[in-house]
Amino acid sequence: MDDEIKYKNVKELPPMTVSTGLMLVNKTGSWRSLRPIIDEDKCISCMICWKYCPEACIDIVDDKPVINLDYCKGCAICAEECPKEAIEMLEEGK
Ligand code: SF4
Ligand code: SF4
Repeated sequence: MDDEIKYKNVKELPPMTVSTGLMLVNKTGSWRSLRPIIDEDKCISCMICWKYCPEACIDIVDDKPVINLDYCKGCAICAEECPKEAIEMLEEGK
């Protein structure tokens, strides 16, 4: 048996890492304790947040990211990856 791990080149990976079919019936927004808020003044519409969101719940509307809170689980990956620090995670209910 070959124990060597063979990593794929990024160009060989699928464009997204989630199944959109499953996501449509699994409203993960109820998991959320932190809510992402986008500062439109800081946002440069690079769409990195859209690319990285594991729930694929960031839509692009008029070239701007819009988060669908029915599916956003509050993981904060978008906030971590945003190059302009334009996404703040706020506690739910505050
Ligand atoms: S990653 Fe940040 S700057 Fe880029 S589109 Fe998303 S919110 Fe805007
Ligand atoms: S916090 Fe950001 S990355 Fe995580 S599910 Fe919500 S929109 Fe997607």
